[in-house]
Parts: sequence; structure tokens; C-alpha cells
Amino acid sequence: MESILNTSKNQCYSCHTSGNTELHHIIYGSGMRKISDDNGLTCYLCAECHRGTDGVHGKNGDGLNRILKKEVQEAYEAIHGHEAWMKLIGRDYID
Ligand SMILES: [Zn+2]
Ligand SMILES: [Zn+2]
Repeated sequence: MESILNTSKNQCYSCHTSGNTELHHIIYGSGMRKISDDNGLTCYLCAECHRGTDGVHGKNGDGLNRILKKEVQEAYEAIHGHEAWMKLIGRDYID
């Protein structure tokens, strides 16, 4: 489904640069990619914010990874509530 975040295909969700983007699955790893797809836990990132050194999958990406997870959890919980999130993902990224 469409992302539940305010994200557009022509703009990087993180740095807001306009242009080509890649779809990032915010919750990923062992079977979680499909859960992200099915529940709109995605955002569009420029190549740099996605795969660059400071990008979410890059070696300095931990900070951005955490921010995106927190923001998508907040957006999901605003719609479905905290219990539904915990049932779906099993981890709390808001602290
Ligand atoms: Zn970017
Ligand atoms: Zn990604």
C-alpha cells in the first residue's frame, strides 16, 4: 500500500532534495520487508540518503534509521494505536 508518511516519489523524505528517489522499506530484515509494503511503512529517499555513507543503509546510517523507524511508528500508531504496532512489529522505537 501507499506510504502512511507524508512522502512523495519526487522528493527525498529525509533531505527534501527534489529528483529521483528510491523506495525504502523502513522496517526491513528477515521477512519484514513485506510487512512494510503491506502496511505502508515506506518512504522515498534520494540515493545518497538511501545507500550513501550517511544513508540509512550506509555505515553511518544508524541515526537516520532510528529517526525513520520512530516517525513511521508514530504515524502508524496515530491510525491504529500502540497495541496494533506491537502486535505487528514487536518492537518499540519510541523512547
Ligand atoms: Zn536525501
Ligand atoms: Zn532501503
